[in-house]
Parts: sequence; structure tokens; C-alpha cells
Amino acid sequence: MLTLNTDTVIRSMSAAHAPVAQAVSGDVVKFVTMDAMGNQYTGQADFVIDEDKGCNPATGPLYVGGAEPGDTLKVTIQDIALPREASMCIAPDAGVFGDEIPALERRMFRLTGECMLFNDHLSPRLNPMVGVIGVAPETGEISNACPGPHGGNMDNKRIEAGASVYLPVFHRGALLAIGDVHALMGDGEVCICGAEVHAEVTVRVEVLKRPLETVMVVGHGRAMTVCAAPTLEEAGFAATKAMRNFLQTELGMGYFESCTILSLLGDLCICEVVDPLMTCRMEVPLWLFEAYGYAFA
Ligand code: CA
Ligand code: CA
Repeated sequence: MLTLNTDTVIRSMSAAHAPVAQAVSGDVVKFVTMDAMGNQYTGQADFVIDEDKGCNPATGPLYVGGAEPGDTLKVTIQDIALPREASMCIAPDAGVFGDEIPALERRMFRLTGECMLFNDHLSPRLNPMVGVIGVAPETGEISNACPGPHGGNMDNKRIEAGASVYLPVFHRGALLAIGDVHALMGDGEVCICGAEVHAEVTVRVEVLKRPLETVMVVGHGRAMTVCAAPTLEEAGFAATKAMRNFLQTELGMGYFESCTILSLLGDLCICEVVDPLMTCRMEVPLWLFEAYGYAFA
């Protein structure tokens, strides 16, 4: 299996980054990823971070042969292998509690394989997920701190093993990069982190010769559109309208039906509220698509 290691990481997504490996549609590829702080934290109390080595390093970019602008790159997460420890932090000016927090505090937690040993009372089950997954954006360079139409730092807990992420291709080869895995994270990512881990993410890449309006994720009985914007309201509205458009174009639903069904069956959820842009997703049960005879490629 083609394996991309952490000696080739990028901290932004851009067509200017030269690919470090090549695959073709249908290949299975392993991305060995660093954690969001570049694997720097050791658990030591006197730990000092080098910010330049942090910022969500993503492994890649991978050139996917056959991917042309206007295509869709389907990335199916086959497996997320975790280490035995995860870190979390609270920090001044970071996340929902940032205005209350006087100083950075960082802690390490044991992972058992199934659970996170949080404290003497709580050992929540893990939900391994990919925080950063994206392709080179249409123009310019987008920091891996930020989500966008290219994917990036979406912090969407539905990007877990068994799910497929659909990304729009803006440049030949797509230039896929993956990083910032969390062993567990709740919707919102309110402290600006999940259970941050380095990991090994095994994916299957496929090129679909069709366009994609908005990043989508399909898996575990749901399909969802994912959008980022400066405010939660804008992100939520954009994700909802993107799904409405998808129902119209792919299922042939009319205007009234496609709007009202989302008021009945659509779940508008927050992915994260802590990145430079807010991210929301509109989730729809897969049986809705199946009722129209529609299957996701
Ligand atoms: Ca993240
Ligand atoms: Ca993270």
C-alpha cells in the first residue's frame, strides 16, 4: 500500500505545493498524520510550543491521477489507527471559554483503544475522526486552521471510518492532504480541540467525472452537505441551501418539496465554532435518497 509519512506535511492547502506521491483512482493509500501541534507535546509541565511546527500539519499532498478541474474526488475513510495517548488544551482567547482563561493548560490522556480515560468517573467511547481533509483550493493558499470550499479544517465528527468525503477538484491531481485526527470530539469543538492525536488514516481515493457544488460526506445512514462561513447562521444557511439544491438536481424534487423536506427530516448541525470560519452540516437520512432510487457513486 502506498504510504505517505509525516516527513511531507503542509500547513496550508494550495496548488503551489508540489505533490509528494501519486495514486490513481481506486488506490488505497495510508496517510501517517501528525497531531495538530506537530507531535510536539510530550506531557511535560514545562512544555513550550513552537507555533511554526503546529497549525494542523496535513500529510501530503497526494496527486490523484485522472482528477481534473470540475471532477469530484471521493475519499473513503477505511480505517483510523490511533496511538495510546491524546492531548487537550484550554487557552486564552481560544474557543468558547477563551475570554475566561488566564493561561494555557495542556494535558495528556490515555486511550485504551476503545475509550479515553478522562478521569476517575468518565471513560467515554472513542469516535475517531479526521479534522483536516482537503484539496488545493481554486485560488491562493488557505491555512490548515481554516475550512472552506476545498474542505480543510472542517472538524466534522462524521468524517469517521466508513464515511466517504466528496471534495471538489479545482486542480489537476486534486492534491489531497489529511491531518488533525481526533480520537473523540463533540459537535462544536468548543475548547478549540478534540482529543488530539497523531494517527494512521487509510483511505480509498476515487475520481468521479462529475462536478460537486459543495463538500459532502456520506456514511452511517446519512448524507450531508458541509459549509463554512464567517458566522454560524451563514454556514448553516449555506449548508441547507446546498442540500436543497442537491435534492433538486439529483432527485428532481420541486422547490416546495425540496425546501419542506429539509424542515421535516433534515438535521442542521454545528461541526465547529472555533476556527476562523464556522462550519455547519445539513444531514439527511440516506433512506430519503433510496426512496428515489438514488445511490451515491
Ligand atoms: Ca481542527
Ligand atoms: Ca484538532
